[in-house]
Amino acid sequence: MSRKAVAATAGPKGKRAEPDADCQICPRLAAYRASGRAEEPDWHNAPVPNFAAANARLLIVGLAPGLRGANRTGRPFTGDFAGDLLYETLLDFGFAQGAYRARVDDGLRLAGSAITNAVRCVPPQNKPTPQEINACRPFLAATIESLPDLCAILALGRIAHDSILRAFGQKLSAFPFAHGAEHILPEAGAVTLFDSYHCSRYNTNTGVLTPPMFRAVFASLRAKIDAVENADQPSKGMP
Ligand code: SF4
Repeated sequence: MSRKAVAATAGPKGKRAEPDADCQICPRLAAYRASGRAEEPDWHNAPVPNFAAANARLLIVGLAPGLRGANRTGRPFTGDFAGDLLYETLLDFGFAQGAYRARVDDGLRLAGSAITNAVRCVPPQNKPTPQEINACRPFLAATIESLPDLCAILALGRIAHDSILRAFGQKLSAFPFAHGAEHILPEAGAVTLFDSYHCSRYNTNTGVLTPPMFRAVFASLRAKIDAVENADQPSKGMP
């Protein structure tokens, strides 16, 4: 199976990478969004769309929008602590350009990268159910399929890791999640799956993930993508 066929393992063919703004597939999450709209009518309170550069080689997959982060602002990882660490790191490693100011209108641009979530709608207590993760996977699979230059996927946390493997039709036991791990997926064409602990406030406050640990993963990603891009360059001086 090629990477092109990834969506076929995860749901109906032809699925769009973006759900409807009022997607009702998960009743619990749709009801939670509706209550959020009533309480905070100025917030996004809808499925959070992908944030992607054209020709992205790196796709970062988080868990789900944070209540006061992406669910409020409408851009993945924008407006909460996890975004502070993620975007700072993306800027440092050349995967973003501009300045991150925790607002959708800060002008920040991704460079060769894309960001999505395994679950597009904010879940209560930041905990989606297995059924909700499964229900949203076709959008993740369609997102992967929509990026033809992809060579690396970064899973932020085990739930994202497992959903990516399922999108590729892989056995979870064959590729166990571990911070810093790299998994070459035999069915994924040239794509390598990288793992990191999620850059949440909880993980950083408890020392599960430190900024140097996070940066080490991005150093590996940068090296992998630079190697792919160098290999793609036509050889100079060759006939
Ligand atoms: S989590 Fe995904 S599938 Fe479920 S309601 Fe939101 S967009 Fe739809």
